[in-house]
Amino acid sequence: MNQGRIIVICAPSGTGKSTLIERLKKDHPELIWSVSCTTRPMRAGEVHGKDYFFIAKEEFEKQISENMFIEWARVHSNYYGTSRQFIDEGLKTGKKMLFDLDVQGADAIKNLYGESGQVIFIEPPSVVELERRLRARGTDKDEVILERIANAKSELLRKHHYNYLVMNDDVDRAYTQLKSIIEEILR
Ligand code: ADP
Ligand code: 5GP
Repeated sequence: MNQGRIIVICAPSGTGKSTLIERLKKDHPELIWSVSCTTRPMRAGEVHGKDYFFIAKEEFEKQISENMFIEWARVHSNYYGTSRQFIDEGLKTGKKMLFDLDVQGADAIKNLYGESGQVIFIEPPSVVELERRLRARGTDKDEVILERIANAKSELLRKHHYNYLVMNDDVDRAYTQLKSIIEEILR
């Protein structure tokens, strides 16, 4: 029977994981992308239902109480959560699923699924470069950037707790490494 797979990409905000994931989605269309729910405001260019389901705090809390999330967390002062139905159905039907989660979400998946959940942590070359990337992206206010940098420092302390570690120094080099890890997991 075709075994389902859970592949989690985890990285401090601004490291470049969305950039790497966009490439992965093109090269590996068999990977099914998990669209999380969030209460954070939509950024320019984001699409409801593709990047996230953008919902109000009250609706998110209602879904928590209805047990709709397999895991959820408060990250950078907003709620983020993964659909229980998506993951259950994906595993039943042997899907290869790709997730973008923070360290709390990655830890929850490891606790729930053990080796069926593989976590790839992406690290930036330095916190200074991380801040430069967050500022260059131009999507977040100063206070949001400072909160994300403070969180990055504690997230980076957990980088050795996962299955794979990739440094996003040069994006092409990092992508080549990430792609070969994904191919190893899918083999
Ligand atoms: P994340 O999804 O981890 O928050 P993004 O993919 O949005 O990060 O990347 C943050 C910013 O850094 C973007 O402007 C992106 O173009 C840039 N970036 C991504 N990877 C690199 C890299 N290896 N070197 C320099 N800039 C990068
Ligand atoms: P962003 O606001 O930059 O899109 O994402 C902020 C953080 O939330 C990132 O670290 C991302 O991995 C994380 N995240 C996105 N969706 C989920 C989710 O469903 N659960 C958890 N725990 N974290 C998530």
